Amino acid sequence: MANFINYPQYLLSRIADLIFPKKCIICGRFNDKNFDGYLCAKCLNTIPINHSFGCIGCKRPVALGKTCRLCAKTNHIDQLLVAADYKNQDLIKIIKLFKYRFIKELGLPLSLLTKKYLVYLARAKKLNFLEENPLALPVPLSNKRLNWRGFNQSDILADLLAENFHLEKVTGVISRTGNSKPQAEIEEKDKRLDNLSGLFRISCADKITNKNILLIDDVCTTGATLNECAKILKEAGVKRVTGLVIARG
Ligand SMILES: [Zn+2]
Ligand SMILES: [Zn+2]
Repeated sequence: MANFINYPQYLLSRIADLIFPKKCIICGRFNDKNFDGYLCAKCLNTIPINHSFGCIGCKRPVALGKTCRLCAKTNHIDQLLVAADYKNQDLIKIIKLFKYRFIKELGLPLSLLTKKYLVYLARAKKLNFLEENPLALPVPLSNKRLNWRGFNQSDILADLLAENFHLEKVTGVISRTGNSKPQAEIEEKDKRLDNLSGLFRISCADKITNKNILLIDDVCTTGATLNECAKILKEAGVKRVTGLVIARG
């Protein structure tokens, strides 16, 4: 992007900083410029990255998060990578503020945490799938929720990760055809799948044919959303779909 600064907006945000100085949401210290004030580097570094892998379907331990053979019959994600542990209370707080209180700036520290995890995978686990240049693809939001929130949190993460790892991010390939009930409000797994069936649509399939996809979302719970996306991506000719999320709820 060009070095363009929207001066009126920039000035307004600096004035807002003076009137309402931003505090780190964890330790309460004021304004750490690196992360736009909402989270300091020290607090970010206390959040451990994840060292375990579980199958997207049965959650049992599997090598490098690869979907087990039994679950592969009904789960379309080939591999699930989870950057951090959702039992960490600070992480829960950051994700909730990012997602439900619309603090867009928290995308940056969350992407740094995910970056640290991917570097760990490459160094300690020799998992170098990023060298195959997968296309970064965020899980889409419905228009209704996008309008309400003002941004798609997965899209922000995908942008930052694509920039960090020099990946191509594809947009306009997958979209939601309607507004489903939020998955978090549905208890049973089967009902969650029904809720999503037929909800996503592929356009411009030529952009993804024979490619590997890195499908990015903030949180995975049952895996139904990731699997439904992976299903239609594969129907459109995608080779492999790796799911990457910050945490598994
Ligand atoms: Zn802090
Ligand atoms: Zn399994």
